[in-house]
Amino acid sequence: MTKQKRIGIFPGSFDPITLGHLDLIERASKLFDQLIVLVATNTSKKPMLSPEDKLRLIEEAVSKWPNVVVDSLPQGLIATYYQEKGASALVRGIRNPIDFEYENSIASINRTQVEDLETVLLYARDEYRHLSSSLVKEIAHFKGDLSRLVPENVIRVIENQSK
Ligand code: ADP
Repeated sequence: MTKQKRIGIFPGSFDPITLGHLDLIERASKLFDQLIVLVATNTSKKPMLSPEDKLRLIEEAVSKWPNVVVDSLPQGLIATYYQEKGASALVRGIRNPIDFEYENSIASINRTQVEDLETVLLYARDEYRHLSSSLVKEIAHFKGDLSRLVPENVIRVIENQSK
């Protein structure tokens, strides 16, 4: 009998992808046979990047990890996607107690949709604990230094947008 492939899904807005997200992706990729980075629509946030730019920037940034793939979910529930993929767990990151509270409710809500859905929470590394896409947007707006916050390709797109 062939062993079933363990698939992890890391959903997020990634607007834009940060070094904190990438650290989490690298660590999570070691826990699964395949990790899907899923660009999902957060209906309460107005995006800075177009869906195409987001996808391309993430694909470029994760190309060094062979078992990481990128997909997008413009419509529909993450829980439904999880079920369709036969995934083993959703991966999310925890930077602070606020994230923890938030992730708690998402995990519970997801379980109302798919009863056996598992959520794996990974702690952010200390150096990325204060890093969020919203702070990146704030710093980008005032043309600050993004070099320790996001990958090179993201900096290029942001610089082009503000020209
Ligand atoms: P969402 O809108 O779904 O919260 P985000 O792109 O903001 O999307 O975050 C996706 C996931 O990545 C969340 O679980 C978040 O806690 C986690 N995350 C965000 N920034 C970091 C970071 N600096 N280090 C580790 N995890 C992070």
